[in-house]
Amino acid sequence: MGPKINADLCAGCGNCVDVCPADVFVLKDGKAQAENEGNCLECGACAEECPPQAINLEE
Ligand code: SF4
Ligand code: SF4
Repeated sequence: MGPKINADLCAGCGNCVDVCPADVFVLKDGKAQAENEGNCLECGACAEECPPQAINLEE
């Protein structure tokens, strides 16, 4: 449950931080981290808005 970020693909654009309604993501050293993944509502917005498709939502 919750989003997993492929750090190799993450471009640090910040889209996921902006779109997530649950404040799951933070940017650290130019990469997104799912610091509060337990808050995830599984809405899918982050994966849709990630240009390099670095976010995988687990079942
Ligand atoms: S699926 Fe929705 S609630 Fe969960 S991390 Fe992505 S944007 Fe946030
Ligand atoms: S939307 Fe994707 S590329 Fe942009 S900061 Fe988030 S994980 Fe990284």
